[in-house]
Amino acid sequence: MKNLQEAQQLAHLGSWEWDIAADTVLWSEEQLRLFGEHGRGFKPTFDAFMSHVPESDRESVQTAIRNTLEGNGDYYIEHEIMRPDGTVRFVAEQGRLICAPDGKPERLIGTTLDITERKRYESALKAKQRELEIQTAFLKTIVENIPAAVFIKDIRDDFRVTLWNKSAEEIFQVRREDIIGKTAHDLWPKEQADLYLESDKRVAYDGKPVDVREEPSQTRDRGTILLNTVKLPLIIPGSSEPEYLLAISNDITNEKRVTAELQAAKEAAEGATRTKSEFLAMMSHEIRTPMNGVLGMADLLMHTPLSEEQAKMVETLKYSGEVLLSLIDDLLDYSKIEAGKMEVESQPFPLRDTIRESVDLLRAQSDQKGIDLTVVFPQDLPGLVMGDPGRTRQVLLNLISNAIKFTYAGNVVIEASVEGRCIRTEVRDTGIGISEETRPRIFRKFSQADASTARRFGGTGLGLAISKSLMDLMGGQLDFHSVVGQGSTFYLTLPMAGD
Ligand code: ADP
Repeated sequence: MKNLQEAQQLAHLGSWEWDIAADTVLWSEEQLRLFGEHGRGFKPTFDAFMSHVPESDRESVQTAIRNTLEGNGDYYIEHEIMRPDGTVRFVAEQGRLICAPDGKPERLIGTTLDITERKRYESALKAKQRELEIQTAFLKTIVENIPAAVFIKDIRDDFRVTLWNKSAEEIFQVRREDIIGKTAHDLWPKEQADLYLESDKRVAYDGKPVDVREEPSQTRDRGTILLNTVKLPLIIPGSSEPEYLLAISNDITNEKRVTAELQAAKEAAEGATRTKSEFLAMMSHEIRTPMNGVLGMADLLMHTPLSEEQAKMVETLKYSGEVLLSLIDDLLDYSKIEAGKMEVESQPFPLRDTIRESVDLLRAQSDQKGIDLTVVFPQDLPGLVMGDPGRTRQVLLNLISNAIKFTYAGNVVIEASVEGRCIRTEVRDTGIGISEETRPRIFRKFSQADASTARRFGGTGLGLAISKSLMDLMGGQLDFHSVVGQGSTFYLTLPMAGD
């Protein structure tokens, strides 16, 4: 008896017996324990049992018992029970009717098994399963609606396809039902299939993703398309080797074509610009020769006896010729730069001398306007910089003449100083300054502050564009800052020689 009790306790299995004629009920110790009634002086009766069954389960329990009492065989029912301490357990109950030899119902015997843990585990499992179903639905929706071809191959089964999404059907023009369970060789010509398989194998053997940047793929109606395919090894938890391969292919055919067309258009445009610049360079050069003839003749003419009126005419002729020539020089320079044909020297030269020469050439202009033109050199200024002396002078002449041109009163200062491994030369003026909206355009070709500038001050708007390019070609820099109404500072840097 003791053993039986222990066995029941171990199994969480209680037993009971209902003597129908005497209407007495016997509960085993484990049955009492299961109902939370052990040691509480509980008197088991049918009603006392039913009072432990929650309202919601009562009817089904009663029906099950009645059926058995009516001779319809054993019953099995799962239901909840409430213990006096308020806890709820889940039990599986079985019952059997024992009849007397004359067939009269005598006793109802049964067992009650505590299945609370199993139920808990089952409902946790159900919740997990639901979660999995939701996640699977999410994944399916993503995979089916993503605009890239997504497919999975089974590495251990000859790289047969196990998943093929809608975009894959569209991009490869192969229906899902025609490819699932097949290998690349079942569907594509050998050469194409070999290509696919080559990257598949790399993923499988190296266990690392492979990015096939441009994969040509043959299709039924669209000819050869270009794909960007990323293949990834899929390692299933619990396994150390990749078992599947996930591939994502993007159709880059159009993108590639557009890029190629743009590239071709760009090259054509560049070619046209080059031809134009070459033509301009040639024409500028050709115009120079006769222009020099005109100027030379004007010069000679000036030294012949002329009336006062004639002398003025020749002077205008000469001045206009010079302006034209300098315009042609600018055009020639600019078109050379545009055509990539401008060559600059890189040699050590004394910057100090170049600055002096430039200033000397423009002193007459500043004197004429009554503007002070000063040069400042620190004592210890290193002697040589690297660059093209002629081109540096051209840049300086442009900056200084602009400074004089755009200054009504005050001064223009040219100051050289050491800046790191470079020498910086500043051209400061107290002129009209450059407005904020003009600043970004100042180094662009044919750019002047505004239309009235050209009328008032002349010029082509090419000078700074040329100067900037020349400085770039020499490995130097050219920049500026300016305050409207107060003046501008243009500065250029050139590397020191000997570095
Ligand atoms: P331009 O031959 O017309 O002088 P630049 O390229 O040398 O051409 O200069 C372009 C424009 O930049 C000028 O027309 C002028 O508006 C502005 N600019 C250049 N230097 C100065 C300066 N020192 N002060 C004010 N404006 C300047």
